[in-house]
Amino acid sequence: RAEEKSMPAEVRKVLNKQFDRFASLPNGSHEAPMTQAYIELILDLPWTEETVDNLDLVHARQVLDRDHFGMDKVKTRIIETLAVQRLTNNPQGQILCLVGPPGVGKTSIVRGIAEAMGRKFVRMSLGGVRDEAEVRGHRRTYIGAQPGRVIEAMRKSGSINPVLLFDEIDKLSSDMRGDPSSAMLEVLDSAQNFSFTDHFLELPYDLSHAMMITTANDASSIPRPLLDRMELIEVPSYLFDEKIEIARCHLLPKQLEKHGLKKGNLRVPDAALSTLIGGYTREAGVRELERVIASVCRKAACEMADGKARITLTDARITEWLGPQKFKKAEPLRPDTVGVVTGLAWTSVGGETLEVESAAVPGKGVLQLTGQLGDVMQESAKAAMTYVRANTARFGIDPSFLETLDLHIHVPEGAVPKDGPSAGVAMATALVSALTGIPVKSSVAMTGEVTLRGRVLPIGGLREKLLAAVRAGVDRVVLPKANREDLFDVPADIKGALKIDYAETVDDVLNVALTMHPHGAEPRLNLPGLDMTHEAVRH
Ligand code: ADP
Repeated sequence: RAEEKSMPAEVRKVLNKQFDRFASLPNGSHEAPMTQAYIELILDLPWTEETVDNLDLVHARQVLDRDHFGMDKVKTRIIETLAVQRLTNNPQGQILCLVGPPGVGKTSIVRGIAEAMGRKFVRMSLGGVRDEAEVRGHRRTYIGAQPGRVIEAMRKSGSINPVLLFDEIDKLSSDMRGDPSSAMLEVLDSAQNFSFTDHFLELPYDLSHAMMITTANDASSIPRPLLDRMELIEVPSYLFDEKIEIARCHLLPKQLEKHGLKKGNLRVPDAALSTLIGGYTREAGVRELERVIASVCRKAACEMADGKARITLTDARITEWLGPQKFKKAEPLRPDTVGVVTGLAWTSVGGETLEVESAAVPGKGVLQLTGQLGDVMQESAKAAMTYVRANTARFGIDPSFLETLDLHIHVPEGAVPKDGPSAGVAMATALVSALTGIPVKSSVAMTGEVTLRGRVLPIGGLREKLLAAVRAGVDRVVLPKANREDLFDVPADIKGALKIDYAETVDDVLNVALTMHPHGAEPRLNLPGLDMTHEAVRH
């Protein structure tokens, strides 16, 4: 094998030395297996083997469009990369990082890119990697030493120019066993990666021909130095109609084939798809949907085995096969309630609505915060509180409330950790409502950071938040005015489904969200708070 394989002269020198060493080891030496493993690694690794790139842009676009609906930003960016590579013949450029919630097709589009270019594809997950040795390998002096994942990936690919996908780069963690992110830095940095060193291999290895792409759920938790070396491309979550399209054109044909069914065997009308999407999944991507479709296909396969040849999927059949729907369509809204505000939150798995509850109870001025709020969120609750205290007169709140009342803000679900500044306006609104006894309109949702002076600052994740608002049946949202420009990124039918108000100050928010204006209202002598049902509606 060594004679047939082409490799750089210095590698061959090392290899020959290892052969000599292996031959000289006495029978049964404990060094023999390690030496053999090392020799095999050198023989397995691609040193000069290379696949020929297909840089035909039309072909690439066809392959990407065939298997993936939408994802235009990613597709366009890849086509651009190929075009540049055609002109410069230099494969290295920026490393792309696809950022988005789970199940939106990040991994599978990268597989598509490899297919379009005719390159080998290897994926490795970095989630939970905390030991530098997992990236860079162990020294061969250790018992059970192994090469790192990057070298293993190259070995698996068998060519020096594969597409390497590093999944979940935001979940790299570091502890006392070293910092894997600094090793990843060397892998991703084009100024260093032509001579990547693996502790096991101990020979510089050239990674610069590989095309590296990374994925992440949450860009903000990617280690900073890594982030600097990557170009982020957002892969947003899907709308209802897009999911139908993806299910009809991609997921269903794929699953039918996997289960040995023909198109005519199981007919799935769009109405059935929308029942599956709305009733059995609640997610940003389509992974759960694919699972649900797979279980429908399995049930159909059983019936097929019983002799049926043609099945049409109806709602009744879905219930029979999958049980009752897990998610009901837009739940009925609660009545307008004192102290309860619908906030909009961004999470790494998509947007969500979030209820911010507040209550005033007899006490002596303590502000309690519960619901696993992170530091930033707690601070914005305190800022909201101070803002309200500074403006009691305008809101018609008895300024001595701190001597008689405790305030409590709670954000269900209590067991889910939450953080971020964007619930500021929701908390300020909840406090004003709790102290004035004026209910908050339940059809209004809001997001925005609040300052001590009551200014409303812009927030991130707008598209996902608005999608969540529509999913939850909200019909009006209050957004920071400074986010106005970001709205062009939001699909038209989402914008059409919502009435959007822009706020510069908390006053603007209160004008929209409260059922009655607090300004100049009579100071309430009989302060609320004992009414824990919060259902008392004062119109
Ligand atoms: P991610 O890596 O973003 O978590 P995956 O790539 O694993 O998601 O996608 C989950 C499944 O959904 C895959 O089977 C994929 O083919 C499918 N999928 C996701 N988005 C699309 C899309 N836009 N078009 C077609 N299929 C898609």
